[in-house]
Amino acid sequence: MERIMRKKMPALFVGHGSPMNAVDNSEFARAWERLGGTLPKPRAILSVSAHWYQAGTAVTIAAHPRTVHDFGGFPEELYRITYAAQGDPVLAEGVRELLSPVPVAADPDMGLDHGTWTFLLRAYPDADVPVIQLSIDERKPPAFHFELGGRLAPLRDEGVLILGSGAIVHNLGAYNWNRPAAKPRKEGVRFEDHVRGLLLDRDDKGLVGYEALGRDTEFAAPTPDHYLPLLYVAAARGKGEDVSFPVAGFDGGAVSMLSVQAG
Ligand code: ZN
Repeated sequence: MERIMRKKMPALFVGHGSPMNAVDNSEFARAWERLGGTLPKPRAILSVSAHWYQAGTAVTIAAHPRTVHDFGGFPEELYRITYAAQGDPVLAEGVRELLSPVPVAADPDMGLDHGTWTFLLRAYPDADVPVIQLSIDERKPPAFHFELGGRLAPLRDEGVLILGSGAIVHNLGAYNWNRPAAKPRKEGVRFEDHVRGLLLDRDDKGLVGYEALGRDTEFAAPTPDHYLPLLYVAAARGKGEDVSFPVAGFDGGAVSMLSVQAG
């Protein structure tokens, strides 16, 4: 029997930006490919993506999760992409136990949404690592999501990479669809800088209390869905573990592409 050495896996947040990063040779796609080259190969990936935001916590249990094309108005080639990673029903069951007594529904139909697969297509192009997704319960406050992230942390010691996919700044109302390189809006830059500082200072309270930033929060996180995956990653960070920012930049002036890596 093959013996598998289990190395502690990083916890990683990515700003996923436009689904076009899956097909375009953008600076972010290239950065994700480089990042993928530096990451260890996990036993499995648990992804918490902004695009599975619903009433209730659920986990995917499909053995072969489908590729979900949850966007509209993009070129046809994007809808033809499949990311054929396997699921991991056993890990999904382990996640349900870890999070108990929080009820976690076992979802046989949900697959991998574009927050998950556009990044993984670049970072793990062989799709040879099983992937499961955990939904974000839209009814719960930020502290709930931070707590769940903390309970998932031990999975890192079992070879599971915890992936949060969203955006620290995500304002589609201010997004410049025609100019990806548009100058970033100052409210977004300020908010992102502030969050970087909180991460570097390990100010978890500040991260959870991000709504207190008033108008900058209103600009950066007009809805919580793209911010909350960060809390899962921040909470899964080990004691004394530094963070780094392997990818940075803005897309369309109003979507942060900042990645945050612990471990
Ligand atoms: Zn998104």
